[in-house]
Amino acid sequence: MRDRRYGGYKKPGSGKKDSDQSFEDLLRETRKGSSSDSDYRERSLKIHGLICAKCGREFTYKKRHLLTVHHKDGNHMNNPPDGSNWENLCVYCHDDEHSRGLLSDYLSDEE
Ligand SMILES: [Zn+2]
Ligand SMILES: [Zn+2]
Repeated sequence: MRDRRYGGYKKPGSGKKDSDQSFEDLLRETRKGSSSDSDYRERSLKIHGLICAKCGREFTYKKRHLLTVHHKDGNHMNNPPDGSNWENLCVYCHDDEHSRGLLSDYLSDEE
């Protein structure tokens, strides 16, 4: 057989698979996915400890799922390895933090 580079040269698995994957990633993230989430989560827990930054409640290793990672600047893509954008908040405080929403963001910005 001769060399047929011309006609249907295809890179195996180019393009299509890629976009499928990122779509799935997106879905996972919107669904409060646990896989990409748990990566920085575990790191944040290691850096800041199993304690809520707000109410000071401590958690055992077994109950650490009640601690969540809050992004101080609200940007979930901003995950510096030193943990400077993370705050460990228990689910109650985290809820509280977000229900205050823009106002508290505003105030802390002013300072
Ligand atoms: Zn708390
Ligand atoms: Zn948060």
